[in-house]
Amino acid sequence: MLLKHISKNNLKLGTLGNNLHKYLSSHGHTGLDVRLLLRRSNHRFCVIGSGPAGFYAAQHLLKLKPSSRVDIYEKLPVPFGLVRYGVAPDHPEVKNVTHTFTTVLKNPNVAFIGNFEAGKDITLGKLKESYHAILLAYGASEDRKLNIPGEKEHVVSARDFVGWYNGLPANRDLAINLETKKRAIIIGNGNVTLDIARILLSPIELLEKTDISPYALDALKKSTISEVVICGRRGPLQVSFTIKELRELVNMKSARAVSEIRDFDGINEQLLKDFPRPKKRLTELLLKSAQASDTTSSGSYSKSWFLKFMRSPKMVERHGDKLHLTLEINEFDPANKERVVGTGKTEVNICDIVFRSVGYKGRRIFDELPFDENTGIIPNVGGKIENGIYCVGWAGQGPRGVILSTMQNSFDVAKTIIQDMESVPHSDKSGFETIKNLVTDKRLTCYTDFVKIADFEEKHNRKVTTIDEMFKIINGKL
Ligand code: FAD
Ligand code: NAP
Repeated sequence: MLLKHISKNNLKLGTLGNNLHKYLSSHGHTGLDVRLLLRRSNHRFCVIGSGPAGFYAAQHLLKLKPSSRVDIYEKLPVPFGLVRYGVAPDHPEVKNVTHTFTTVLKNPNVAFIGNFEAGKDITLGKLKESYHAILLAYGASEDRKLNIPGEKEHVVSARDFVGWYNGLPANRDLAINLETKKRAIIIGNGNVTLDIARILLSPIELLEKTDISPYALDALKKSTISEVVICGRRGPLQVSFTIKELRELVNMKSARAVSEIRDFDGINEQLLKDFPRPKKRLTELLLKSAQASDTTSSGSYSKSWFLKFMRSPKMVERHGDKLHLTLEINEFDPANKERVVGTGKTEVNICDIVFRSVGYKGRRIFDELPFDENTGIIPNVGGKIENGIYCVGWAGQGPRGVILSTMQNSFDVAKTIIQDMESVPHSDKSGFETIKNLVTDKRLTCYTDFVKIADFEEKHNRKVTTIDEMFKIINGKL
């Protein structure tokens, strides 16, 4: 009755105060009853992963059930996932979402627990005992492979490179040398490819103004890369990058865009008129840039980028100080114009560095849960894996989608959780109070620790890129 009264009137605990006591005493309850009732209304939720999916889910759980408590567990000592370690440093406006996430962190019903790797530091069983619902929001921390000879030795993973320039501790020691290199090839036609191309081609004065990691800035200062080839296995109509990101490259003053105009044969106003607007505008920009590249002289540009379509990588070999990338030329499958098949014809592209940017991939963290090794996703229906266990964001949907679509997914799954909780009998769950006693062999971090690191970064105007240094700052030794 009381709980109904609270939720019907959307009363926040802080504002209940005296009213609650008055209400209870008029109904013959004591102070102890008040505490018990309040505890009964507290659902304990556990979120694994502190990227956009985890934060937006926590925010929505608390919006729908303000009295619930959400513990956000994160593998790294610091929060924000790909917003900190994926989003390109020259896109600071995107990182503004951290303001919203910080508001979530400041909510007294939220706890951030960093340096905690779910699956390694705790079992699923222990989490189930301690929470009413567990929400897996741990992203996709592997990458899709090409499975071609020479890949392991000679191909740089886009995920590693992105982590490297963004100061992800695990990638900071990536052996990457951009000196004496001239030509880079990036395989894949997604937005991550365009991020990498932009970082490689941007004037250093622009990168200096960003939060790019200091060692990456040094390496890029010494970079002699002057040509970036972007290689897609399908055609211009099948690219998965988006117009804003393409426009940034096209408008780059330091680098000239080059395309093969014959890749655009048959793509004309007549064909484009029935396309959905975003695809129409994107294709028009690609076409315009290809037409311009046919006529623009390279005179005023020191760098260039080239779109190569209908090519699949087959092999990478080292010959002296050069890499030879063999590409098979594809053609459209007559039975399905969205699919390509190899023609058997190949060409060898000589270059200095090859990046694989064909998508991220999720991984299994709990053996007890089903997992599709092929897609890297935990099978789920609308985010629900089984009673009390849910997944959200890239962990649940696969490694596609921007922050906005991830947010929508988080809101939907949070709503499902709250609806499901209606039929879960109330029981006391102790959340982190129990978990903390089970993880005693390492120093976990909290929001205040992160604030110390963030303050240090602001004061010194550089990102902290080792876990060691993070703990020195936390412990007041730096
Ligand atoms: P993530 O952001 O990856 O968060 C997952 C979190 O879980 C991480 O913090 C990770 O450390 C943690 N974790 C992993 N395993 C465990 C574990 N076992 N225990 C505890 N914690 C764990 N979108 C945009 O809108 N704009 C952009 O400019 C943009 N740029 C992007 C650039 C790159 C290179 C990439 C890859 C993506 C970009 N995106 C961008 C997409 C956006 O980053 C994703 O949509 C979003 O980050 C997905 O959120 P998530 O929470 O599912 O995953
Ligand atoms: P993506 O958008 O899925 O692109 C992957 C690309 O790799 C596709 O062009 C795909 O081609 C290609 N590919 C896959 N397997 C291949 C193979 N074996 N050989 C050759 N090519 C292959 O992935 P992403 O670039 O990693 O981006 C992930 C998500 O993050 C996307 O939703 C993206 O929009 C988002 N993101 C957004 C921003 C931004 O907003 N600025 C920046 C970065 C990332 P097919 O289409 O033929 O499969």
